[in-house]
Amino acid sequence: MLLIGGGVASVRCARALRRHGFEGTITIVGAEDRLPYNRPPLSKELLREDLPDELLEAEPASWYARRSIEVAMGTRVVSLDATAARATLADGSAIAFERCLLATGAGLRRLGIPNAGDALMLRTAADARRLRAAAVGVAPGAPVVVIGGGFIGLEVASGLAALGLRPTVVEMAPQLWAGSLGTGLAAWAADRLTKHGVELRLAAVVTGLSRDSASIGESEVPAAFVIAGIGVRPREELAFEAGIATGDGVLVDDGGRTSHPRIWAAGDVARVSGRRVEHWHAAREAGERAALSMLGLPVPAVPPAWVFSEVAGATLDVIGATDGWDEDRWVEEDRVLAYLAHDRVVGLASIDGALPASDARRLVSSGASIDEVRAAIR
Ligand code: NAP
Repeated sequence: MLLIGGGVASVRCARALRRHGFEGTITIVGAEDRLPYNRPPLSKELLREDLPDELLEAEPASWYARRSIEVAMGTRVVSLDATAARATLADGSAIAFERCLLATGAGLRRLGIPNAGDALMLRTAADARRLRAAAVGVAPGAPVVVIGGGFIGLEVASGLAALGLRPTVVEMAPQLWAGSLGTGLAAWAADRLTKHGVELRLAAVVTGLSRDSASIGESEVPAAFVIAGIGVRPREELAFEAGIATGDGVLVDDGGRTSHPRIWAAGDVARVSGRRVEHWHAAREAGERAALSMLGLPVPAVPPAWVFSEVAGATLDVIGATDGWDEDRWVEEDRVLAYLAHDRVVGLASIDGALPASDARRLVSSGASIDEVRAAIR
């Protein structure tokens, strides 16, 4: 089995393959020059404190060795021949496979403004270390600009404020998370961030950067440095060039099966039964489902999505649909918010663990009522 991509989707796929008795060769190929690691801490803990690299690793080196899982990091697959079942690496060598998982993740959207290269970006552990160095290298109280009010922007702004800096978040949409989590949660987050020293500029666009400021229309906002988190694009080129069906992601079924019988896809690169979910739990679970499918075993249904984040020191779990709902309503003010479709709960947001994620998943799966949610709150 060849698993292309050095993230948690590949690691969980490898783990599930071994757990379900697969004894053949498993090779993980990853472009970054280090063992697969978890990305959630990059915009949270790693910004606030200097965590050693080992704490980020998805699994230690000994874990792969014990399971005879080969890990070829610092190596990039440059082309895939699905019919011949062969992947070509950047150095010209080839790896033959019986089945292959594409878990190539997503690449950052880049700013298209003058001096965009001066803005920090955040995708890798090295990016996170650069961001932390910038944050601790400026004077306390220094102003910084965060472009994008999505997951990265809000987590990073929260961390920068906790370090004593004065972040301004510039979000193009009129609401945080571009409105994808509804007005109730966006208003809660805006209020909380403001109280913790984060300034918000909504429905605003940065039009250019200079050495010590960012231009928003006519105004210049001072910035000791600028960090941008303006979304990602699935890295689907290998699949596309191999003739596999793509369309804003590699198109797969619940088990990660692509349009080619030898190829599966999981994680940020995959569009699973019509939905692309760019989060840690989804990638891990998709890797596990792909392993079952690759082995011809039954694949469990895709559970409701589970996203966790942080907003100015509060934890936030969002479970289930962030689209397809017709009303968002607080079940308990500033603690649990429900997304409803025809009065049934299709999504839940839980603040500071008010509703354990496992309970929230159960309630969303069963299409619970608001009363049932209220009864489950801690
Ligand atoms: P994101 O969550 O998609 O948010 C990007 C935000 O930037 C959107 O609100 C977007 O608005 C806005 N935007 C786009 N262009 C802009 C511009 N020129 N000026 C100002 N705002 C602009 O993406 P992200 O925050 O960059 O995160 C990257 C990836 O990492 C995502 O896949 C995210 O899910 C993942 N991530 C997840 C977590 C977590 O699960 N807790 C944490 C960090 C990162 P429009 O949508 O209107 O373009």
